[in-house]
Amino acid sequence: PNISPFLDPGTLTTPSSLAIVHLSRDNLQPVYLRDYSGVVDGYAEGAVINTRFGSFPHSTLLNIPWGSQVRASIVDTGSRGRKRKIAQVGDGDGQDKDSENTASDGKPARNAVTASSGFVHILPPTPEIWTTSLPHRTQVVYTPDYSYILHRIRARPGMRIIEAGAGSGSFTHAAVRAVYNGYPDTPDEKTGKIFSFEFDKSRYEKMQEEIHSHGLDGLVQLTHRDVYNEGFLLDGESPQAECIFLDLPAPWRALPHLSRRRPKPNQLPADAKALNGTDSDWKSPLRADRSVYICTFSPCIEQVTQTIEVMRRLGWMEIEMVEVCHKKINVARERVGLNMPNDRGTNLTPGSVDEAVTKLREVEIRFREFHAKTQDADATMEDDTAEKEAAEDVNMNGDGNQQDGAAEDTQTTKPWMLGRLTHRTEAELKTHTSYLVFAVLPQEWSEEQEAAAFEKWPCGK
Ligand code: SAM
Repeated sequence: PNISPFLDPGTLTTPSSLAIVHLSRDNLQPVYLRDYSGVVDGYAEGAVINTRFGSFPHSTLLNIPWGSQVRASIVDTGSRGRKRKIAQVGDGDGQDKDSENTASDGKPARNAVTASSGFVHILPPTPEIWTTSLPHRTQVVYTPDYSYILHRIRARPGMRIIEAGAGSGSFTHAAVRAVYNGYPDTPDEKTGKIFSFEFDKSRYEKMQEEIHSHGLDGLVQLTHRDVYNEGFLLDGESPQAECIFLDLPAPWRALPHLSRRRPKPNQLPADAKALNGTDSDWKSPLRADRSVYICTFSPCIEQVTQTIEVMRRLGWMEIEMVEVCHKKINVARERVGLNMPNDRGTNLTPGSVDEAVTKLREVEIRFREFHAKTQDADATMEDDTAEKEAAEDVNMNGDGNQQDGAAEDTQTTKPWMLGRLTHRTEAELKTHTSYLVFAVLPQEWSEEQEAAAFEKWPCGK
């Protein structure tokens, strides 16, 4: 069977498969690798990916181990290519640069990338990478949230998850990997499955295409539906779900459909429509013989309070709200105004030598005062050794750009180590994604089950 590259990518890149072109940490480009031969889009090389780091014919990306670094190729891009080269000027990435490259006016184009100087890495698709590179049609759930959610709703191989709304499919991809049991041929009930619902027609259609081209057809069942009014049964049958994730504007409106029994009118939220059917023909989309775990995902606290109120009325238990405050912490050493080389031998901060040396001295004094105050003698000695070693490392790199005076004067002060180490966290507000409400609906427990259990374990006798 064709296993999705998200679940088992194999060892080599293959034709027609989704691959991720990694240009830089924040720039990932999904691409379907095509085994074209002949001229495509005017390129004799066949299909070509053009990036600001150069051109990459698909043929150079095919049948190679995942994770490979691939150098750009020189392709005959004609006049279009020349324009592209000029547009690439000013890139601040760690890719190779070619200062010899020229713009159309014949002057050197600073930092322009030649068609053959850059490189990319070719990565297999994973839910995490897909989340950062997918075409956004909505707000999406990001990795720090969905990894925690999947853990809390007990998603594991073989489980069946109800998800609404599907949106851009970010959560769906992570969820399907969590429930996939590794045996695509086992019958549905053992394979694990995502029952996903989306009421926006164009999002539904786009996501249906993606599910298909990602090889997830049997594992994700997407339905075009307004779940507030139509619930979660499929052709009148129960998906028998044991995990639920709701990323909807009004999750409380979907909750009555996720009950084991037909809710009484006083259990319904004020904005809910009357439910169809009778008590006796009520079919629950949930598994009866297991506790069901739910998470709802809402950006506003008012949504949380409404959701919790309805959860309580409907018998959900262990209700708890969590906010995942994920922060990136950028750690950097302050620059101290000296012509210092970076690891590619390029000057970072041009400035006068005198000015730089004075600054360094000031920094050194502050550095020593700080350490004298805050560290004991042993720790300071360790720091000095580390400084010495690091300074030696830098010297061994052979700094051709250093100016003589600065080198002499700062030999003992190890200038590159003196910039204070600083860290900067992202702003508090930026980290808020949504509030996560978790709850459990206990398993059904009938009189018969109680009697049978008593029969088996007659602890009360
Ligand atoms: N969780 C998704 C992801 O990770 O990509 C994003 C979901 S997006 C924030 C919310 C989605 O819910 C939208 O696509 C919207 O169309 C859908 N939606 C809103 N109300 C709905 C309803 N009553 N039934 C089904 N889908 C609904």
